Amino acid sequence: MSYGNFEFTDNVMYLKGVGPRKAAVLEKKLNIVTMYDFLTHYPRDYEDQRQLTPIGNLEVDQSAVIVGRLSNLRMRETGRFKIVTGILSDKTGHIQLTWFNQEWIFDKLDNGMILVVIGKVKLDGYSGMPTMNQIASFSILSYGEQPFLGIVPIYPATASLNQNFFRTAMRNLLDKMPTLTEILPQKLIEELNLMSLDESVRAIHFPKSYEQLAQARRRLAFDELFMIQCGLMLIKKQTQDDRLGISHKKNGALVKKVLESLPFELTGDQKKTFKTISKDMENKLPMRRLIQGDVGSGKTAVAMLALVKTVESGFQGAFMAPTEILANQHFETFTKQLEGFGIRVGLLSAKVTRTKKMREEVYRKIAERELDIVIGTHALIQEDVKFAKLGLVVTDEQHRFGIAQRSTLEKKSELIPDMLVMTATPIPRTMTLTVYGDLDVSLIKHMPPGRKPVQTFVRTKRQRAAIYNFVMKEILSGRQAYVVCPLIQRSDSEKMQHIDPAIEIYEMLRTGIFKKIPCGLLHGKMKIAEKDSVMESFRTGEIKLLVSTTVIEVGVDVPNASVMVIEQAERFGLAQLHQLRGRVGRGEYDSYCILVSDSKKDIAKARLEIMETTTDGFKLAEEDLQLRGPGQFFGDAQHGLPDLKVANVFRDVEILLAARGAAEKFITNEADLNYFARLRENLALAYGDRFKQITEA
Ligand code: ADP
Ligand code: MG
Repeated sequence: MSYGNFEFTDNVMYLKGVGPRKAAVLEKKLNIVTMYDFLTHYPRDYEDQRQLTPIGNLEVDQSAVIVGRLSNLRMRETGRFKIVTGILSDKTGHIQLTWFNQEWIFDKLDNGMILVVIGKVKLDGYSGMPTMNQIASFSILSYGEQPFLGIVPIYPATASLNQNFFRTAMRNLLDKMPTLTEILPQKLIEELNLMSLDESVRAIHFPKSYEQLAQARRRLAFDELFMIQCGLMLIKKQTQDDRLGISHKKNGALVKKVLESLPFELTGDQKKTFKTISKDMENKLPMRRLIQGDVGSGKTAVAMLALVKTVESGFQGAFMAPTEILANQHFETFTKQLEGFGIRVGLLSAKVTRTKKMREEVYRKIAERELDIVIGTHALIQEDVKFAKLGLVVTDEQHRFGIAQRSTLEKKSELIPDMLVMTATPIPRTMTLTVYGDLDVSLIKHMPPGRKPVQTFVRTKRQRAAIYNFVMKEILSGRQAYVVCPLIQRSDSEKMQHIDPAIEIYEMLRTGIFKKIPCGLLHGKMKIAEKDSVMESFRTGEIKLLVSTTVIEVGVDVPNASVMVIEQAERFGLAQLHQLRGRVGRGEYDSYCILVSDSKKDIAKARLEIMETTTDGFKLAEEDLQLRGPGQFFGDAQHGLPDLKVANVFRDVEILLAARGAAEKFITNEADLNYFARLRENLALAYGDRFKQITEA
């Protein structure tokens, strides 16, 4: 976007009040390079300074704006500090002003000047007199000039660049910036009663009222969410337009036989979900569906039926698991369940592809359709894997793969395969719309019958003896137990010294109370073959007590395990604790989860106590997201969610839904699509590369 002699892409150093030295700090500390970056460095908060306070009325700890005449200006040195002080007076009283280590202020000020000062009132540590020693900003008034009063922005700042700098430079930028051209269609603006872009951008920095600020936020949040939604809708539209999808056959004898051979009857939710999936698959439009359901709710069973359906229609199915352990486990279950019906199940994981020869043999079988269903890890999406006739791709725990990988897998065959995504991560609806906005959602809400909720207790380290005695009792009565630790090994870093890593806990238990019990250790740094053999021994019941890191987090299914101890539980997110806890309570036995934590922090304790009271994964996820934010929740940047500067997907649900509705209409309209292309160019600036990736995917 270009506005006369003003370019958003210009380096911010050319802005009045910035210059090369401060520009370097901006880049290093806040990743701000261009004018645009600076403009969108939005305030993190505001201070209501619309009123002048007479100096005589000031109260301790109050933030206020005062105006007065300066006297007694001086600078002194005490030890490491250079302290500038002065007295500010108006008709009602006097107050001391204090600046630490800002010598330049001494040069800038003179006795007799009229100052406007914004700051917080404290009592001076030495004299006990009222003083402003946390001065957010001040300005020198010329004769007759009025002080700036208003709702004052507070910016994310850094030590060497204070609020005063940001406010002044931002004012300069806004003064220099010509009126911004509207980017949204007028129709939409009127329909949704949005504030204009120009007014919003100005008002978010210097709002005239809180009402204006709210409207500005609403508009800018809408822009962000609207762009994301348009991007997601576009992906959806493209996959539906470009090439043809597959019409699967109606469920026939094979599906029916497999269904009848299951050792249980599907739950209502499972039936409903499979019915929806069947309809999607029979439709020529490619299926893009997300199955959301808590751990153990029976998603895999449904996915298996969908895979059988694709095989019955003469296609191959791929099932992508997030870990080796899970791929192996699914492979076993599927083989056992399906072999009898002549369905050929194959495994493509690091385990069977150790040598080039082994790998190529599996590739060949996939390419020549000697396998009907292939189960694997992300090895499945590698370039050299070519399916003869891919009809359905199921991915488990998709959020670990991200949107980019989703489309890689899609490009693996001539016809667009149907796609089913399963997640046990209880992503709240608002989040689903943002991350999975291009997918339709099915929910498996109710657990298969007979499941008992896992009884959960928070305990301290001091109670370890009692905890492990209890574990011992369970083991002696025939059950098995997990002990989960946050770390494998103690590292050199100081900070880690108070952590008990898996290896040490394992040694402690193996040589102590469980001396006569077969114990196993499982962690991510072990070789695949080792991991497999430990996991296998635990599954067969040979190993009774398994100490592990979070490698067991997803999907491991050992119904005989009835107790899980989680050491240093405060180090895990709630959603993660919930996933871990889902490893027990999978069989007919009463099950227990014991969260060991010595954390003194209230927030940590509160979080763990939530675990004691609810087994509702969605509720836990909401709590966790509120407490820790989406980045933490997903663990890394893999979620493909562009950085949102204004919008908050939890608070702004209404705006999100409006944006989604608008995007839906917008993207189905050709004329608007061209418009969108332009919009996207303009806003690539605003939403950066990650947004571009999404809309190009
Ligand atoms: P998810 O994939 O959602 O974690 P699974 O499909 O692996 O769940 O099912 C968890 C366990 O419950 C498995 O042992 C499975 O055999 C069993 N199961 C699945 N559906 C049912 C059902 N309708 N009734 C009883 N048990 C079921
Ligand atoms: Mg289809």
